[in-house]
Amino acid sequence: MKYISTRGRSPVCNFEQVLLTGLAPDGGLYVPESLPSFSVQEINSWSGLPYHELAFKIIKPFVDGEIPDDVLQSILHDSYKDFSHPAVAPLRMLGVNEWVLELYCGPTLAFKDFALQLLGRLLDYVLIRDNKKVAVLGATSGDTGSAALEGCRHCKNIDLFILHPYQRVSEVQRRQMTTVPGDNVHNIALRGNFDDCQRIVKSAFGDQSFLPADRQLVAVNSINWARIMAQIVYYFYAALSVGGPARPVSFSVPTGNFGDIYAGYLARCMGLPVHQLIIATNGNDILHRLMNKNEYSLNELRPTLSPSMDIMVSSNFERYLFDLFDRDANAVTAFVTGLGEKPLHLDEARWNRARALFSSHGVDDKTTCQVIADVYRQSGFLIDPHTAVGVEAARICNKDLTVPMITLATAHPVKFADAVTRAGLESPDLPVHMQDLFDREERYDILDNSIQEVTQYLRSRL
Ligand SMILES: *Cc1c(COP(=O)(O)O)cnc(C)c1O
Repeated sequence: MKYISTRGRSPVCNFEQVLLTGLAPDGGLYVPESLPSFSVQEINSWSGLPYHELAFKIIKPFVDGEIPDDVLQSILHDSYKDFSHPAVAPLRMLGVNEWVLELYCGPTLAFKDFALQLLGRLLDYVLIRDNKKVAVLGATSGDTGSAALEGCRHCKNIDLFILHPYQRVSEVQRRQMTTVPGDNVHNIALRGNFDDCQRIVKSAFGDQSFLPADRQLVAVNSINWARIMAQIVYYFYAALSVGGPARPVSFSVPTGNFGDIYAGYLARCMGLPVHQLIIATNGNDILHRLMNKNEYSLNELRPTLSPSMDIMVSSNFERYLFDLFDRDANAVTAFVTGLGEKPLHLDEARWNRARALFSSHGVDDKTTCQVIADVYRQSGFLIDPHTAVGVEAARICNKDLTVPMITLATAHPVKFADAVTRAGLESPDLPVHMQDLFDREERYDILDNSIQEVTQYLRSRL
């Protein structure tokens, strides 16, 4: 399997190379040169498989023999063995043909564990085999940071540096990061906002000359291909659980960076019968405005009750644009680098193609709280604000009530107590494995919003 950049000016990579990098050197994102595809019969033969065995079927062609099958199988087994539910990704029925896929049974209670438990183990295997050391550097608005630390902290060949905006993540989220033990764990609270964190991370990736000669940076956010790859699996798993692939299913996906829904798009490209794919956004709705009005433009970033989707520009959307522009890297480059104050538009034919594939809906904070309250009243089930955005978009966009509609439940409500309280409900208790979270010792360093400060900090700790 070869991986190519969406901007067409980077060397072709193999799996190990995309695993150990972030953006392509030309500023693009890596995608597979061609996708594996599966027949309906083959997908059907996987029904009833445990999660990790299904994951092996789907992930194997992307790894393409670079990791021996038995090693990959045991890595996948270990990645999902500590999830708190035996089904790993259980489905819960909300109403007639209406489901949520609970993706928060991993150690940090958000769907990011699905990818980062695996990414950490893949990195560990490859780095030990090749006798290499790397530094993981990532910015987080909350959930990525803790999932990355949990996923990678056991890797002796990785030093982890996670930047979060000082005093702008929830207390549960901060403590989930700052109480992770280990000499290789470094939490940085940056005096700035999430965009400042991302800017610094991007610039460090762009010029890595500050690192010791034998080190390189590895990305853990969803520009890393391995994260997307891991997320394809639960689309197949969910469909198989409700009668697919014999019947099509629909998905509603709360998304900010377009990572999770892009994985759903790939599942469909790989042969899974998917009826609708719904982009569910909060008030930061650049993707909804594009689908709805053919307007792709920057608005000011507004903080919402679903902070993990407070993103201005969705980096993974470029991966979809690459297909929409018929894999013409120059056209993609021109489009994405043209994004500024002036709105961009797709040509009519492409816009219609995109809209035939994706529905979309933007949900404000008030409605988010109403949905949390409504769902609780109707089914006794407490959902988090991101999931609520997905449930609302599913209800609004649903085109065929006879097709199972599955909303991805991306986080446990305990992580977002604020929204739950505002919905007039009581915040749930922390799960057993986190009950002493507020007693554990915290470790983090507060740094100024400066690239030099951050790179010096990394250097001094490597
Ligand atoms: C990260 C995150 C999202 C958005 O994921 P994308 O990669 O932007 O699609 C949604 N909900 C929660 C709880 C998250 O942590």
